Amino acid sequence: MTTNGVSIPPERVRAAREVAAVLVPSRRVALTTHVNADGDGVGSEVALWHLLTRRGLEAVIANPTPIPERFHFLLPNGADRSERAVREIAAADVVLVLDISDLSRLGDLARTIKDSHAVACIDHHVSRGSLPAGPRLVAPEAAATAELVFDLASALEWPLPPEAARALYVGLLTDTGAFRFANTSPRALRVAGALLERGVDPESIYESVYASAPEGRIRLMAEVLETLVVEPEIGLAWVTVPPDALQRHGATADDLDGIVEYPRSIAGVRLALLFRQIANGRVKVSFRSLGAVDVAELAHRFGGGGHSKAAGASLEGSIAEAQEKVLAAAREYLGQNPSSTPTRTVRLGP
Ligand code: AMP
Ligand code: MN
Ligand code: MN
Repeated sequence: MTTNGVSIPPERVRAAREVAAVLVPSRRVALTTHVNADGDGVGSEVALWHLLTRRGLEAVIANPTPIPERFHFLLPNGADRSERAVREIAAADVVLVLDISDLSRLGDLARTIKDSHAVACIDHHVSRGSLPAGPRLVAPEAAATAELVFDLASALEWPLPPEAARALYVGLLTDTGAFRFANTSPRALRVAGALLERGVDPESIYESVYASAPEGRIRLMAEVLETLVVEPEIGLAWVTVPPDALQRHGATADDLDGIVEYPRSIAGVRLALLFRQIANGRVKVSFRSLGAVDVAELAHRFGGGGHSKAAGASLEGSIAEAQEKVLAAAREYLGQNPSSTPTRTVRLGP
């Protein structure tokens, strides 16, 4: 089936219809996503909020953590009820979980969602999927959950209002690192093209998402980059967020987004890491790779997951303890996978 100039695989059309079967007019739907929502989670929620509200459903966004300031420009008035998320989830007829298939990254909402009788999911993670049973539109080969929300609307022939198109574009833009990462598929660009045809203004979105930084974000970045350590022989590099840095710069976790791209951008680096202290005495590790290094596998060893080139995990203990364990695993991985380690011969000139 082809709609909006993009063809949709038959299994996605089937899955979209299964998800839509529970999205019946007048039902109350709570839209949610993983902790520390990113552009894909928020963009997918906002797009669905517009789509469902227009179809006569009562939709609310109920996230486990506040929506980062960076994405507030997308939010319709009154749509975000995350400050009373547990109650919204409990009162909903249907919970629609976006950009995650696991309970473990739903924070304080996990228990209420586990007990919900109707849980649908749209996601692109490689995951075992610990959500309660329910209709699923899950495709790890999709660049972003936003691509799948686009497919849902297309498959069901639901018209896409401009506000929804804009939100989906933000999801695609942010999850592909502004159309640079390995998930920038021809199809992702076709979907982005279809969204531009719906009137999305890419420059104003660039400005809102990437060029409206508070000063603290840049000062925080400078401080984190100071901690850079590189092991060029094996192509490993990492940075560490000093324990009180977010607080000192009035920053939130969202302000760290993209910093791990700097260690990854060093010539010869194939595996980059970012370490930071999070709540409950845990340490969050972000893994990024280039080439053949599979970071989903590495993150999985520490109870995390994600994609082959971008993954994460949270470990118990201090930053020093997390670094000891994760760096040992990283060194061993890079040593045992020599094809994934770089050759350091760089010739300049003729
Ligand atoms: P991040 O490093 O937080 O930007 O996350 C990179 C990717 O890894 C995203 O696709 C996340 O969904 C996934 N991810 C991050 N943290 C975790 C975690 N604790 N457990 C499982 N997957 C994670
Ligand atoms: Mn995400
Ligand atoms: Mn995503």
